[in-house]
Amino acid sequence: MEKHDLIIIGGGPAGLTAALYAGRSRLDTLLIEKMALGGRILTSEIIENYPGFPGGISTAELMSRMESQVKELGLKIVSEEVLGLDGDGIRVNTAGGDFTAGAVIIASGARPRKLNVPGEEQYTGRGVSYCATCDAPFFKAKKVVVVGGGNAVAEEAMYLSRFASSVSIIHRRGDLRASPILQERMKQNPKINFILNSIVSQIKGSNKVESVRVKDLLSGQESDLVCDGVFIYIGYEPDTVFAKNKIKMDETGFIITDENMATSAPGIFACGDCRKKGFYQVINACGDGAVAADSAYKFISKSVI
Ligand code: NAP
Repeated sequence: MEKHDLIIIGGGPAGLTAALYAGRSRLDTLLIEKMALGGRILTSEIIENYPGFPGGISTAELMSRMESQVKELGLKIVSEEVLGLDGDGIRVNTAGGDFTAGAVIIASGARPRKLNVPGEEQYTGRGVSYCATCDAPFFKAKKVVVVGGGNAVAEEAMYLSRFASSVSIIHRRGDLRASPILQERMKQNPKINFILNSIVSQIKGSNKVESVRVKDLLSGQESDLVCDGVFIYIGYEPDTVFAKNKIKMDETGFIITDENMATSAPGIFACGDCRKKGFYQVINACGDGAVAADSAYKFISKSVI
């Protein structure tokens, strides 16, 4: 079985930063990623709150720089989906075989939460999307609906407005939770309108999306809103099923760690969006990754001595 000092699961900002610090500690590190390196930040076009880049930087550019930096340090990368953690948790199972290491850092991130309404699954890829950066160009001069009220909605609605003829934000409460600076920009955008205190109860169409059923939660009235696309941004769920029953998680699957990113299992650390915390940003995902790598290094050094 292939053996390394450290295995990092996930190649987003947290995993790549952990790899950077592990590389500089001269740990023989394997990073396992099931998709392309970069993580879910790549579903946004630009990041404006990563320090050092006034005016923002494209997420593709930022992640490509992080990737180059770790590759310079000799990071090994395999493209596999992790299926489970075995034994004491230091063995990682993938479809392509098992890998073992002195420590493991889980940086597996999170995936979009589903609305779970009729039509959502049926029309995914045929009008329903979770990634404006990927799909906005298909909605040139078309009407789109965006569901949710957080920062992701704000950023993606503004991006969509460059293509679509109108962007209707449907949010279940009267107030958005997006940052005030993003709310100000949305309100100034003539293509964006708000349908508040309302939910989407159904997505309808024939071979593609044609409308959504909207329920006004204050009046109880329901109506159909004609649209060509539905973008859903109602938060994220941690991608941690492979570690279930091996380490302590909360009821929704976010991994519980201490301030050193240590999980309930010795030698297993977790960082970034898969971990339970109060604030989910690229900047603190990177901070988590640095701490996790330092803790893993200390754990491995002690186990070697
Ligand atoms: P979020 O901040 O968790 O917001 C999710 C939104 O979806 C909330 O407005 C929530 O409504 C709504 N919602 C949740 N479940 C729903 C349901 N079943 N039906 C209808 N609406 C539902 O998620 P996010 O905007 O995807 O962002 C995720 C994290 O990434 C956040 O921590 C965010 O700050 C961060 N982020 C940061 C930036 C940035 O700083 N530039 C950009 C993107 C994301 P309620 O408000 O009623 O709960």
